[in-house]
Amino acid sequence: MSIATLISGASQLLTLRGRGPRRGNALANVGLVKNGAVLIADGLIVAVGPRAQVEAHPFARSAQRLDAAGRVVLPGFVDSHTHLIHAASRADEYELRITGASYEEIARRGGGILNSVSKLRAATSDALKQRAHAALKQFAAYGTTTIEAKSGYGLDLASEVKILKLHKELSAEQHLDIVSTFLGAHVIPGEFRTRPSGAKDYVSLLIDELLPDIAAQKLAEFCDVFCERGAFNLAQSKQILEAGKLHGLRPRIHAEQLSRTGGTQLAVKLGAASCDHLEKINRADIRALAKSKTVATLLPGCDFHLGLKQYAPARDLIDAGAILALATDYNPGTSPTVSMPMILSLACTQLRMTPAEAITTATINAAYSLGRDKQIGSLEVGKLADISIFDVDDYREIPYYFGMNTCHTTIKRGQIVYSKSSLSAA
Ligand SMILES: [Zn+2]
Repeated sequence: MSIATLISGASQLLTLRGRGPRRGNALANVGLVKNGAVLIADGLIVAVGPRAQVEAHPFARSAQRLDAAGRVVLPGFVDSHTHLIHAASRADEYELRITGASYEEIARRGGGILNSVSKLRAATSDALKQRAHAALKQFAAYGTTTIEAKSGYGLDLASEVKILKLHKELSAEQHLDIVSTFLGAHVIPGEFRTRPSGAKDYVSLLIDELLPDIAAQKLAEFCDVFCERGAFNLAQSKQILEAGKLHGLRPRIHAEQLSRTGGTQLAVKLGAASCDHLEKINRADIRALAKSKTVATLLPGCDFHLGLKQYAPARDLIDAGAILALATDYNPGTSPTVSMPMILSLACTQLRMTPAEAITTATINAAYSLGRDKQIGSLEVGKLADISIFDVDDYREIPYYFGMNTCHTTIKRGQIVYSKSSLSAA
């Protein structure tokens, strides 16, 4: 058995303990322990709570000590919505949008997602991997320890498989866990758009060829659809997600981002793990989410980057009792950031969530949306020792300092995977 590690000396220890996921008032309960400590052995948490109690554990005496030196200790962030694998930035379109073109206009001209598709198809697996490795290091540097990653810039069998295999390889080659989602239904690829039956043909290709192949190779846990005007309509989305379910892939959905399509109600009916974006949801959608176990995942980075004024109605969702999560939506077109702290800042200022609510939705609730709330998302005995340490005195300062990285140390399965200074096991 490996040597144990004892983390102590935190100004605040946020455990997020208790039964996940959280709704309503419970979102504000971050399980704060003053003068708390965490004891880790073999990558797992073996004791957590008040320092005296943790130090009484038999492993504590011989443990190596890690002094948090008055910083804030909390669970590593779970980023439950990213498009990790892509070939290049779209800074050119960023400038076009600033000077007046809308996201949808750019997409109609072959920009947008299709721009990323042609670049991805041309890119080698090695080049894609190198870019993703660099991004994963950055995720860790901002306190994230698990990410979900979607395919969706390939849109043919070979390219989608290329992306999904990279999820697997990257998971094995570096520390962060990657949860894989198949998003073949991102948009209709260009080569299908010239035919009158193109959309129908592409949906058939997804259902008859891509889904069975990807499920057989066990390359994804979830199946996602971009249910939006210009992408997939409600009927197509239903068809694809139901086919995914038959292959054992749980549904997730991009819904009501730019227009209201009915995707939220579909997500609830299908028992989807999550329903993401939700800028355009109505009251009936909010009620449906509140009564369901489908997680409402909000992605305020998109609205911020696109310069949109209408954010998702987070307060209405919280008041109704929906399960909320926050994620970066890291992607080259609408949310080029890996920073969960920045997303927390946006959640606080734009979604009017409190810092405590934002942290809960970025940890335990996000873990629940990935089906991993028993393993990660809170600091509790038996869970993975996935921990972030922020160089602040008070957890509210994590979102308060926007656009700055106050993450000091990130620990994955008990191992330090990022450290800003020489703070190390002594
Ligand atoms: Zn997305």
